[in-house]
Amino acid sequence: MTANVLIKGGRIIDPSQSVDEISDLLVTNGVITEIKTSLDRPRNSEVFDAEGKIVCPGFIDLHCHLREPGEEYKETIETGTAAAAAGGFTTVCAMPNTVPAMDNQSVVEYVLKKAKETAQIRVLPIGCVTVGRKGKQLSEMSELAELGVIGFSDDGDPIEDSNIMRQALSYSAGLKLPIINHCEVPTLAHGASMNEGWVSNRLGLKGMPNSAEEIMVARDLSLAELTGGHIHIAHVSTMGTLNLIKAAKARGIRGTCEVTPHHLTLSETLVMGPTEDSFVPLSRDAYNTNAKVNPPLRNQSDVRSMVEGLQNGTIDVIATDHAPHNQVDKTTTFQDAAFGISVLETGFGSLMTLVDNGHIDVNTLIKKLTADPAKLLGMDIGSLKKGNSADITVFDPSETWIVNPQTFLSKGKNTPLEGTLLKGKIKATFFKGRKIY
Ligand SMILES: [Zn+2]
Repeated sequence: MTANVLIKGGRIIDPSQSVDEISDLLVTNGVITEIKTSLDRPRNSEVFDAEGKIVCPGFIDLHCHLREPGEEYKETIETGTAAAAAGGFTTVCAMPNTVPAMDNQSVVEYVLKKAKETAQIRVLPIGCVTVGRKGKQLSEMSELAELGVIGFSDDGDPIEDSNIMRQALSYSAGLKLPIINHCEVPTLAHGASMNEGWVSNRLGLKGMPNSAEEIMVARDLSLAELTGGHIHIAHVSTMGTLNLIKAAKARGIRGTCEVTPHHLTLSETLVMGPTEDSFVPLSRDAYNTNAKVNPPLRNQSDVRSMVEGLQNGTIDVIATDHAPHNQVDKTTTFQDAAFGISVLETGFGSLMTLVDNGHIDVNTLIKKLTADPAKLLGMDIGSLKKGNSADITVFDPSETWIVNPQTFLSKGKNTPLEGTLLKGKIKATFFKGRKIY
């Protein structure tokens, strides 16, 4: 495999430079050198026929869980990044809720070393906000920043103590990096396993109300205003959250947010199985633990508001929150099952359903996966500009396929989409000009 390739005849979409045209794209020594129609194949170049396909910058995922070190039975950096490449991603940001947590230099160095040895794509670590993710004492944030972490998070757990959050935002303002918070008031969410609403009542499960998220979002935005820090709200899921973020942005507060493919496309009724009728007997698919995720799948109007938020710019980026689990973590009661969905390999296909049914155009979708996360990271990626690293994704917007978790490269087979027909398939992923998928 060379790093010289001519990608021929595809529809090239690059929102970073408002490109949308049928053209050829030339990569030389791993770098994008030309976008032009009817380019001749240089010697020593491979040709990739992209006719009928869309060619765009490689996707960037601001939020995924690679589980290494410590939970390699769920995922490793090698398997997680292979899954990412299969899903069209060329850059992933790894959450620090590993064992041990990424709260000190040696663990972050270990992750970077493992990524260098086993990953075929770019892995950017996220450092912990607090020591051991316990919420009591700030980590050595500036030392972690020196190693190149792209932000700080205790994801999986919220930062409960408002004063710790205030300090974290103050420090991060100096470091020019975001604090990424999983917003959930613990006392409101304690013991809950799904969204609070008629479905949780029907199933007899304890639900978490939207307020559990929104109260902490409001606090964080207020503290961002107080400190001048940058708060990035992870995986938003409620309409109220978006209203708060929209108002904060209008006031000039540094508040950004991300949404997952599942919160854009799936609602709480999935926990009951395919039926959406409250009066029929429950199907065999009720209490599907693969639909258990945190924040939980919300109701239809929240889902609709996520799509609107993506269209009107309140939501900055799409991130997967890929959370692979082993079967033993999910083969149990709904109450006891682990939270999380394996998303990297289905995310793009499920997002394309929004394009297919006219909720969002394909250019906006690509922008939220490429140029916009790159802007948040402040990096020269997510773009097909001349001279950039040739991180490229090629997909067929009309090819259909059926989700089969047994074919996932991820160790996490925990998807509620098993057997679902999706339209839009990744055909190739290039990293630094090399075809890695
Ligand atoms: Zn989270």
